[in-house]
Amino acid sequence: MAAKLTKSSPLAGAVMAPEGLTLNGTVLEPIVEKCDGCERATEVETAKYCPTYAQPSKKWAHGVCNFATHVKATVDTTGKIKVNPLKASKRAARGR
Ligand code: SF4
Repeated sequence: MAAKLTKSSPLAGAVMAPEGLTLNGTVLEPIVEKCDGCERATEVETAKYCPTYAQPSKKWAHGVCNFATHVKATVDTTGKIKVNPLKASKRAARGR
């Protein structure tokens, strides 16, 4: 049986089909554990789906999801402040 979402939902127009939740011909996969807390995740029946990305697991496969609202990617994973190499060489020339 098909279930339609309301117009106010970010997944408006999505239809629950036998193969899963379908939006414009694309089957949406449920969100993964890393998506927990993201404001984009939308609950449909018993599972949550991402209206931004059809395959959330692949979005997290190579790092932090760039659409996530609950986490942000860090530029430097070691915690060091990155210095422009040109400025560093000028600083060294001045003896600082
Ligand atoms: S935007 Fe990213 S983190 Fe948020 S639900 Fe979608 S895939 Fe998950």
